Amino acid sequence: MRKILIANRGEIALRIIKTCKRMDIKTVAVYSDADQDLPYVEAADTAEHIGPPPVAQSYLHIERLLEIAAKEKVDAIHPGYGLLSENAEFAERIEKEGYIFIGPSSEVMKKMGDKIEARKTMAEAGVPVVPGYESESMTLEDACKEAGRIGYPVMLKASSGGGGVGMVLCDDEQALTQHFEPTIKRSQTYFGSGKLFIEKYIPKARHIEVQIFGSAEGKVFHLFERNCSIQRRNQKVIEESPSPSLTQPAKDKLYDLAVRAAEAVNYKNAGTIECILDADENPYFLEMNTRLQVEHPVTEEVTGIDLVEWQILTAFNEEIPVHSQKDIQQQGHSIEFRIYAEDPKTFYPSPGTLEKLEFPEGEGIRVDEGYKETNKVTPYYDPMIAKFIVTADSRQSCISQARQAIDSIKVEGVKTNIPVHKAVLDSAEFMDGKYHTQTLTKIKGE
Ligand code: ADP
Ligand code: ADP
Ligand code: MG
Repeated sequence: MRKILIANRGEIALRIIKTCKRMDIKTVAVYSDADQDLPYVEAADTAEHIGPPPVAQSYLHIERLLEIAAKEKVDAIHPGYGLLSENAEFAERIEKEGYIFIGPSSEVMKKMGDKIEARKTMAEAGVPVVPGYESESMTLEDACKEAGRIGYPVMLKASSGGGGVGMVLCDDEQALTQHFEPTIKRSQTYFGSGKLFIEKYIPKARHIEVQIFGSAEGKVFHLFERNCSIQRRNQKVIEESPSPSLTQPAKDKLYDLAVRAAEAVNYKNAGTIECILDADENPYFLEMNTRLQVEHPVTEEVTGIDLVEWQILTAFNEEIPVHSQKDIQQQGHSIEFRIYAEDPKTFYPSPGTLEKLEFPEGEGIRVDEGYKETNKVTPYYDPMIAKFIVTADSRQSCISQARQAIDSIKVEGVKTNIPVHKAVLDSAEFMDGKYHTQTLTKIKGE
């Protein structure tokens, strides 16, 4: 009997446990002092206390995780998303200690985790990257000179940034000068590296990403696209598959680009090629996420594939149930709404006790929950309460079903972003599918 340690928490830990149960695999969960009453802890076959609430002493504590892996004699470790999921050092330690890391090799993670390195690798493979400038030791002088050449506005970005953190929009040289040193400092504090690069800012951009999968035998498949352009603070809030308002040639170009990108690094396991599309549908590589993505359920809903199952099979060097691209079909339409405990006006977290938590049930509704009623949303972690996923035959019926279903979600005790979801669903921009990354700000009237 196989046994997997889940080095994560909340909804993604529970999501992984569900697939493991179906595959007859035993699970070990870890929980901090803040999480002991959460549903995933109860759902796992075994749960081990990992430490106090702060992540550095709990979910990011590599030695402690390895101690638990040894004690529980697990075969493999699933990192989920966020936390240690893109930490190449963690993957390397796991490999060295003789466990299986459920994800790509640590070597590939190292390469793609560094955005400068990833841009270089992709450019060499003939994949278009956002026009920009990168150098291992960029001075302010270099930055100004190159930004002038690229043309303002530009994005100043941390090479190891993530979660929308570590990037700043600069409209002119004065702004670039003003943000340069503080961005280096912030990047050092958050990501342990002050390496920056510059990208041309793409106005009215669409964030379209392609789910890819590299099988154990070395074949790369794509599982179509997700449109993740409804964002706040450069972070996704609503995602859908397929993407509306995108021509078939533009889609085919994206799939081809994504498969080429993954093949260039001999990618194995689940990954995402994030692209940004300009107003003329030209795609540019943004970054590769070498892990399961928060929004993977919309892809699962329209393809009928369990991505966690594929991840586990591949990590154990087993075959996935498809052998050619045409075995993977996209059917129907799926939209995911991230339900956050946050103030819908400011988008700031709103921690507290979930006095009430109720989701509607029914055909086409999937709820990936991290909490149950009476649980506390604490300030230590990402304040996402659940993912509400609606699937229907067409986009139009998906939207109307979602609009109704969302009205039946009941959350009390914390503020939530549910009013934001309603406003988006009621907007003409979302309805006609022609939205971009600034649309949410516009809908909110800012
Ligand atoms: P996705 O592309 O799957 O939406 P994100 O890059 O937004 O993924 O992040 C995945 C998860 O990890 C989110 O819950 C996000 O809040 C968290 N996360 C990612 N990077 C960081 C970071 N540097 N600091 C804090 N949280 C992060
Ligand atoms: P992260 O690692 O934080 O996810 P990404 O590079 O994937 O960073 O960018 C996150 C989001 O920021 C994008 O989805 C997009 O909305 C915005 N963004 C990033 N780069 C650009 C750019 N060059 N032009 C316009 N928007 C951008
Ligand atoms: Mg990204």
